[in-house]
Amino acid sequence: MQTILTVEDDRAITASLEEFLSSEGFRTLSASGERQALAILASERPDLLLVDLGLSDGSGFSVCRAAKALKLPVIFLTARSDEDSVVKGLDMGDDYIAKPFRPRELLSRIRNVLRHYETDSAVVYLGFGITVDTEKGTVARNGSEIQLSALEYRLLLVFVDNRGRLLSRNKLLEDIWDIAGDYVNDNTLTVYIKRLREKIEEDPQDPKIIKTVRGLGYRMD
Ligand code: CA
Repeated sequence: MQTILTVEDDRAITASLEEFLSSEGFRTLSASGERQALAILASERPDLLLVDLGLSDGSGFSVCRAAKALKLPVIFLTARSDEDSVVKGLDMGDDYIAKPFRPRELLSRIRNVLRHYETDSAVVYLGFGITVDTEKGTVARNGSEIQLSALEYRLLLVFVDNRGRLLSRNKLLEDIWDIAGDYVNDNTLTVYIKRLREKIEEDPQDPKIIKTVRGLGYRMD
């Protein structure tokens, strides 16, 4: 099921959009302004954002910038009087639709943009602003690349490929053996996990992406 995040300060519009989008089989999230939208993006990965340009809390452009840093598509919802901003918006967003709009027209634009993005599915979102582009082999926080060693990257990929599964230390050692060779043992694995956490976790002392399952191993949710 695909998720759409609506960022709009007009509750009536949000409510009718949510009702319509759910009836079309989408999961819906909503934010009334920039702050709330950024909070949602820190923990959720919607497939597309509908962003009102004129927000009472913050700006639709800032929300769009944050979404673009996470490689998420954006359709702007604009008031007729915003026509001037629309040109600027089109450079940033993927499409826009002027209010009031017909739900069917919005739906066809949503489907169109989603179709366009599905071809770019090599990007995996780990939460907390971290994305992994498995095609390019890059890792980024809020769109800025993080430098990982080959072994750290490989270790991260093992977690990405086994999300939600408990990985024992032995399984991890097996999976990185081909690039780590005999140099990696139980102690060095601890060191590599620590280094990887220092690069991707907000607080490496309290890891949220790669969690320790005491006595058993590690897990990425
Ligand atoms: Ca508004």
